[in-house]
Amino acid sequence: MGKTVGQNHSSHILKIKLLIQNFDHEIKFMWTRAHVGTIGNETADAYAKMSTNKENIDCRLALDRKFLNQLLLKDILLKWQANWTSSIKGREVFELCPVVHLKGLHGNFFINQLITGHGALAKHQNRFFHKSDVCACGKAVEDRSHVILHCERWQDIRKTHFSQCSLLQLFCTKRVRIGLEAIMRKKLEDVLQDLPQ
Ligand SMILES: [Zn+2]
Repeated sequence: MGKTVGQNHSSHILKIKLLIQNFDHEIKFMWTRAHVGTIGNETADAYAKMSTNKENIDCRLALDRKFLNQLLLKDILLKWQANWTSSIKGREVFELCPVVHLKGLHGNFFINQLITGHGALAKHQNRFFHKSDVCACGKAVEDRSHVILHCERWQDIRKTHFSQCSLLQLFCTKRVRIGLEAIMRKKLEDVLQDLPQ
């Protein structure tokens, strides 16, 4: 016997492989032209035609692994979406990312604080450490929207990096993300300076 049959995991192929392995005699594989009167080929054709005359197909094909993975992924995404939509947690992130997906995740420590509304923002510091939630500009609670869209302290960065668009679009623009990161670096420095020596 020559070359091994490829990495096919179909149960039919596996059964044939097993039969071949357990056969004591030499087996040769060769190409056969269809419909030329070769006895074995004609017999196979006859069985194939007989099977098409049956009312029910008595052959169950195993599901393709790739297809099965796609089905599972679709189901997982649907359940994840339902949980994400009905959850009471992470609503600031939900405001930016209402639809779950596997792409476009941010791995930036500074920008993630703005996406989640956590970290160095005064509103978050107030919730966990009971510090004032008022921004250093003194004009509003320092939450994500205030920092990104309104606070006069970041006007220069905003002029250089931002454009007029939605919060979500801002997070998706590379030039803006550089500006957001610069703001949060400065914010983190402020928080660290306030820590008791
Ligand atoms: Zn402010």
